[in-house]
Amino acid sequence: MTEQIEKTKQELLKKRPPVVVVLGHVDHGKSSLIEKIKEIKILEKESGGITQHIGAYQIEHSISSGNVEKITFIDTPGHAVFSAMRSRGAKVADIAVLVVAGEEGVKPQTKEAIMYIKKAGIPMVVAINKMDKPESNPEKVKRELIKEEVLVESMGGKIPSIEISAKTGKGIQELLNMILLVAEMENLEADFSCPGEGVIVESYLDVHRGPTATIIIGKGTFKLGQLIATCSASGKIKSLEDSYGNVLKEALPSIPCVMLGFQKVPKVGEKIQVFKDISSVQEHIQVGEKRYQEREVIDAGSGKKILNLILKADVLGSVEAIEQVIKNIPQEEVFLRILKKDTGNITEFDVKLACSSKAKIIGFRVNADKIASKLALRDNISILKFDVIYDLSQAIRNLMEKMIEPEIKRKDLAQVEVLAVFHTDKNRQIIGGKVIDGEVVLGSKIEIFRNEELVGQGKLVNLQKNKKDIGSAKKGEECGMLYEGDIRVEDGDIVHIFKEEKEKRGL
Ligand code: GDP
Repeated sequence: MTEQIEKTKQELLKKRPPVVVVLGHVDHGKSSLIEKIKEIKILEKESGGITQHIGAYQIEHSISSGNVEKITFIDTPGHAVFSAMRSRGAKVADIAVLVVAGEEGVKPQTKEAIMYIKKAGIPMVVAINKMDKPESNPEKVKRELIKEEVLVESMGGKIPSIEISAKTGKGIQELLNMILLVAEMENLEADFSCPGEGVIVESYLDVHRGPTATIIIGKGTFKLGQLIATCSASGKIKSLEDSYGNVLKEALPSIPCVMLGFQKVPKVGEKIQVFKDISSVQEHIQVGEKRYQEREVIDAGSGKKILNLILKADVLGSVEAIEQVIKNIPQEEVFLRILKKDTGNITEFDVKLACSSKAKIIGFRVNADKIASKLALRDNISILKFDVIYDLSQAIRNLMEKMIEPEIKRKDLAQVEVLAVFHTDKNRQIIGGKVIDGEVVLGSKIEIFRNEELVGQGKLVNLQKNKKDIGSAKKGEECGMLYEGDIRVEDGDIVHIFKEEKEKRGL
């Protein structure tokens, strides 16, 4: 019987296209690669079909057998979306393309990307970019990758690497072939017939159409009219479109599609599912909201905090100067990650990126356009604007300092010998004692020592002398202490009184 079910399940599985994410250091050519692939494929299609930007697109690529295969690219490059997805527990990409600029080699965000890819447990293809530049040195890049435990094929490893130029298009066909080869080995399949499950890769509020979300489906099918929910938003599917703007009746695995019908904008990286009834939708949202509230700061994996920044400045020279200033800020406690740097005013896209990646927007001698300001206000996104680089640097330092946990320092205040225990309640006792060292201060913490061994802990709730409340008692004085704690105090115990003070730490 179980065998029969297993067999049926197996029969329901169908091959699906790979979903690819492009990662790498800033300026190494992620966006250029994504755009170049789009450009080449649109030209090949001859239909002139211009894709709308929906956060992901699908291309068709012919392989040597003559077969045409599909590949889906998440076209918001960088770590923002990927890390948002990971932090929300969603898995969307099957394969990662790690872009490393041939003339620059492995940089901090390359290392970070490698870490993300390894954690996600997905295969990678290394694309050594900017091969049109004479100073590009792919062998050096490959050697640097070994240090990061990324062994490419020509170095005796298993990870494929392709030399490309996102500028001229060199090597891009080979890269696509390689992606399909890796996909073939991964044996990517999905059940197309079950209720749909997917991930939000882009979302925003469209003035005319309402909450708009791009989803990539992992398994099953989404159909018009179905009840859907993520952990933060729900609704009923009103319309489905592909990346060419074609209206769909249903959406299938690995195909990016735009979905309308949410009551509010779902968050990027959230899982989306079909639900049978409203009560299960509500239950799902309640559980989900609680879980995500705690995830304000995206963790690099080492426990180090990260401050994501989006930099917009008036001219390229300013961008470079700001970058230099940022590089000089100590980052032992908080790591500064520039998700995007660009010239020009702060746009709606910047705010959306800030929203999905919990980033702060830093503007230097620029303004935010109207829609961006409105969106930022609605989504509670900070836009900080400056005219002086020093002020900008101070503001970033302040933001970082706020993220640093204060150090808890213990300050020993006094020791009291227990002479009598007057009254015992459930977890409260009145202790009569003599201060043998230091000064007892109300509101302190307490440790109980018996025969020089720590036996319990608690706090000092009240302090009295001759039945009158007092604030402190010095060495030599006798006092009554109302103690609340986890053990019963006995005559002869020694009570250690101490305070814990939070001490602000600098960068
Ligand atoms: P991203 O930050 O990784 O998305 O990088 P971009 O795609 O924005 O590229 C950064 C800069 O490098 C841009 O000025 C691109 O024009 C340039 N660039 C990207 N790929 C190539 C390439 O293959 N060759 C050359 N010469 N320049 C490139």
